[in-house]
Amino acid sequence: MRLVLLGPPGVGKGTQGRRLAGELGWALISTGEMLREAVAKGTPLGRAAGRLMAAGELVEDDIMVGLVRDRSAEPDAARGFVLDGFPRTVPQADALEAMLAERAQRIDLAAYLGAPEVELVRRLSGRLECPVCKRAYHRTDARPRDGRHCDDHPGVELRQRADDAEETVRKRLDVYRVQTAPLVDYYRRDGRLREVSGLGAMDEVYRSLKQALECPDPDPDPDPTSSGAPSGASSGASSGVSSDASRRARPGR
Ligand code: ADP
Repeated sequence: MRLVLLGPPGVGKGTQGRRLAGELGWALISTGEMLREAVAKGTPLGRAAGRLMAAGELVEDDIMVGLVRDRSAEPDAARGFVLDGFPRTVPQADALEAMLAERAQRIDLAAYLGAPEVELVRRLSGRLECPVCKRAYHRTDARPRDGRHCDDHPGVELRQRADDAEETVRKRLDVYRVQTAPLVDYYRRDGRLREVSGLGAMDEVYRSLKQALECPDPDPDPDPTSSGAPSGASSGASSGVSSDASRRARPGR
């Protein structure tokens, strides 16, 4: 399956996307992660993107489309992928459709994770991240065992992301409302949207997400040559999916 994760910053797209992709053998394509790596390496892209990211603004569409074009063509994405953080604008979504159509592929579904804005600000301003494995923690909700270091990398101190400062969080939410929220309708129009509440425990959200997507069980014998065929859960409007989970959250805050 090729899946887009939609939803505001802090709603849990990264956490849920990582788990889903890992369990089902799909590639996780996180554009924020790719940009942060470029920033850490000091590449030309990283230098240009770093300034925009720190201000809570978006990186240019052309750059992002190029990144996703290359990444989604890598072999690990042949069975399917989860896009986290892309598309983030309508032009990016149009470019994604065109790029996949060239490969006789399409986005099967878009999952929208929703949560009220006060909760997003609370989560983001308390968020801590392991710089090695990118696992997310929270100062109060999901503390690491010793309060400071990653549970899986005991020598590694957790960090706050540069763009999780409160003022930047507000800017990111504004940018989300104006530029990214319209994508909810973009995928709803042709029946590809599934809505899931991002509130509650991580496991609960994960269960709702899988239910909304009617996820297949992990395939023990993958056949990479069959990647062009959409899965049973991907038949768009005709699938008539309307789980409880999909009714729980509405876009908007
Ligand atoms: P968030 O928690 O805001 O969803 P991400 O990790 O997805 O954060 O992205 C961090 C930053 O990287 C964004 O605020 C933006 O500056 C940049 N970025 C990531 N993906 C895109 C994209 N598709 N288009 C433009 N900018 C992007």
